[in-house]
Amino acid sequence: MKQLSNFDEIYQFLATRFGNEKEYLQAVHEVLHDIVPIYNANEQYKAFDVVRRLCLPERIIYFTISWSNSDGDVEVNQGWRVQHNSNMGPYKGGLRFHPSVNVSVLKFLAFEQCFKNALTGLPMGGGKGGSDFNPRGRSDRDIMLFCQAFMRELQRHIGANTDVPAGDINVGAREIGYLYGEYRRLNNKFEGVLTGKGLEFGGSYVRTEATGFGLVYFLDAVCAEHDTHIEGKTVVVSGAGNVALHAALKATQKGAKVISLSNSRGLLHNEAGLSESDINYAIEQHTASDNILRDMDSKKMGQWHENKTPWNLPCDIALPCATQNELHETDAEALIENGCTMVLEGANMPCTNKAQSLFSKHRITYVPGKASNAGGVALSGLEMSQNAMFSQRDPKLLDEELNDIMKHIHSLCVAEGKENGDDYINYMKGANIAAFRRLADAMVAQGI
Ligand code: GLU
Repeated sequence: MKQLSNFDEIYQFLATRFGNEKEYLQAVHEVLHDIVPIYNANEQYKAFDVVRRLCLPERIIYFTISWSNSDGDVEVNQGWRVQHNSNMGPYKGGLRFHPSVNVSVLKFLAFEQCFKNALTGLPMGGGKGGSDFNPRGRSDRDIMLFCQAFMRELQRHIGANTDVPAGDINVGAREIGYLYGEYRRLNNKFEGVLTGKGLEFGGSYVRTEATGFGLVYFLDAVCAEHDTHIEGKTVVVSGAGNVALHAALKATQKGAKVISLSNSRGLLHNEAGLSESDINYAIEQHTASDNILRDMDSKKMGQWHENKTPWNLPCDIALPCATQNELHETDAEALIENGCTMVLEGANMPCTNKAQSLFSKHRITYVPGKASNAGGVALSGLEMSQNAMFSQRDPKLLDEELNDIMKHIHSLCVAEGKENGDDYINYMKGANIAAFRRLADAMVAQGI
């Protein structure tokens, strides 16, 4: 088949085959616009057909998880691991347990992960996995039994130099511990096959904080680029998980006023700004609570509003940190109208295409998650290198390295994202092109 050379041909090739995979097509669409001109200008890239090869996962593993819960009932779930691209290192990316998980969602996440991982500069390929298992309301024992059954299937496909999963939505330290224990028992190997492990068994300092802290380090760089600073800014944060809470904490420590957190059931609003101790309370309690935000309302840390989102609150900066496609066109309109000038994604693809277009039309600084939330996987890369050396590094040095990596990603985005004769920085374009060059060069160098 001839190499496909324009946007329409390549997109059509994917759309006809995967027409029902809307999240995957959305993520590919976001990237193709920016990279096809680079591809067309490079004979090597064309000769090696890098774009089409980069859009398609190298391998997708599907398995059924039949398991017996703590009441002795049989449950059946679906599981996947999408091993997208391994040209730059072992497949690397998280596991998500959520009823919305399907092959389209995991393909979009694995595709994005390749670009994100390329931006970190560390030797990591891209992958993603998970299950439609819903952990909400489950006992600790059920979580353990499910994690063990999931790993019994997954273990034959992963390894410290092959594929290194980590956490994502609903997969945190507890789940990684159970998954890791099962891998170790089955393989009789203590190796860095998962990241996000406990500090007692190969985990790294700063891994838990890294995505949220990294987002704020990136925000620091964006502010400096625009001759301003985070101190005194009003920030809205969506989400109430690990990323949202650590972003809120770091922004607060840097003098911002964080006025919201949210979850799928509603919004916590604190007009005066959450205090560090409020956020630390949430960090300590959120995994144990059914709704930490409602608990915070009862402790007078803010007002809980059922079924509301943060996007109608006046603010300077928005940090969507919950999940994909959570911020729509009407939300973008409300943010712009209320004075928001910067949107940095803590989650993966939280802004819809239409919301993104509106931001760039109004020259709002918009940073895609593949750049601004890369801190988590960057720290995972550092956890892998510590595991390879059987060492544990100092938290302060790791935090400094995280900061340096985020600043470097920012500079890559600026270098590739400046439009000719204009001072508006297109961070999406910058991130896509910088990551693509690295991936494409690795693919050309290693042949077909
Ligand atoms: N799930 C995170 C992400 O979306 C972290 C992945 C990892 O550490 O491998 O980047």
